[in-house]
Amino acid sequence: MPFSTLKLHPNLLKAVKELGYARPTPIQADAIPPALAGRDILACAMTGSGKTAAFLLPILHRLMDKPRGTTRALVLTPTRELAAQILEDLNELAPHTPLTGAAVYGGVGMGPQEHAFRSGVDVLIATPGRLLDHFKAPYAKLDGLEFLVLDEADRMLDMGFLPDIRRVLRHIPARRQTLFFSATLPAPILTLTREMLRDPAMINIERQSTPAVGITQAVYPVAQELKSALLLALLKRGDMQEVLVFTRTKHRTNRLAEYLVKHGIGAERIHGNRSQAQRTAALAGFKSGKHRVLVATDIAARGIDVTALGHVVNFDVPLAPEDYIHRIGRTGRAELTGDAYTFVSPQEEGELKSIERVLGKRLPRVTVPDFDYSAKPEARLEVPLAERIAGIRAKKAEERGRAKAKAERRATPGTAQPLRQHAPRSAPKPSPNRSGNRGRPR
Ligand code: AMP
Repeated sequence: MPFSTLKLHPNLLKAVKELGYARPTPIQADAIPPALAGRDILACAMTGSGKTAAFLLPILHRLMDKPRGTTRALVLTPTRELAAQILEDLNELAPHTPLTGAAVYGGVGMGPQEHAFRSGVDVLIATPGRLLDHFKAPYAKLDGLEFLVLDEADRMLDMGFLPDIRRVLRHIPARRQTLFFSATLPAPILTLTREMLRDPAMINIERQSTPAVGITQAVYPVAQELKSALLLALLKRGDMQEVLVFTRTKHRTNRLAEYLVKHGIGAERIHGNRSQAQRTAALAGFKSGKHRVLVATDIAARGIDVTALGHVVNFDVPLAPEDYIHRIGRTGRAELTGDAYTFVSPQEEGELKSIERVLGKRLPRVTVPDFDYSAKPEARLEVPLAERIAGIRAKKAEERGRAKAKAERRATPGTAQPLRQHAPRSAPKPSPNRSGNRGRPR
């Protein structure tokens, strides 16, 4: 089915054509017609399905028919990366329209975002917490809102944003069209859909939680301590070019990126403790091919959009099966093919079983030829917390001891540090003197 059958504004179809989208993805084909007809939508869709265009295109179409100047559409999304990505998609879809968008998220200044409210951009894309911060100010009014999108609602639930979403709802008109997107529908999300949606068109509900087609999934059983070496071996064999790697903790993310760089592989990292500027730079470097590997924690990686990403590696097995589906959604985007490898240590077999239960199949196990599975690990990737604390304490005690000894030496005349023998005996440079006593002997 070509895009033209979707009855979208010709200027939107022009942009779609320029982007090279030959035909709508299934979620777009299913969601766009009822959304254009003004219906609420409840869609199960994960990253990679083309869901962003599935909600942006009908909204942009409907925004074209009226005078502009007030914000008429709000997209709520869990992370800054996702907000920035949706804005990028909007700018790509709307270049032949007068429509404008702005992203509002934490970690950056409020000032430029205030301008977005004051100028009444057509589409506001926001994370819930920062939006609520703005609502405290008198300039932040969304009385003219007609369209609301909830993007990755289940992820917002995971991140504890449900109360924030309910607070946001108090600031926007109850009469509106709502498009609700979630990869999975756990009970609290179903309750929220009942509160927010009126007779929604249900899309893909029965197909929730199945990974995108075209993804080859495989499991790599390996001892926990050998995971870094295995990843390095796969990278060195040239099995994968660019790869997005998920780890369980910020600490592991840092250590793994350091390990790869030390072994000559260009790698960057994204996690919650990194500043927005660092994340943006890391992502840009990865997208441009400067870094071959991007290591990320799960939450920080939401919204990463890397077109036609060939490989995703789950360095650690995700704790929840939904996370697995989300993560591997990074590859095989919009029906391209990709590989998703999961490194599984004996301790993680239980989590792997839960994932396989949800997938309804056993994933193939792969052994890498020539890799020494019995090697002694070079260094542990993660030092257990108790050991790290003990290390910090020991270092502090040593520093205190040194400071005490120094203080004692100072207090005892005749034991001062000897002058350094190799220091050149030049006269000290005259320093500018602000108190006006220049030239006076000291
Ligand atoms: P999303 O699921 O919204 O994160 O989109 C996944 C990726 O698919 C993005 O890189 C889009 O640019 C791309 N995409 C969206 N719609 C289409 C389409 N109809 N044909 C090809 N690629 C698409």
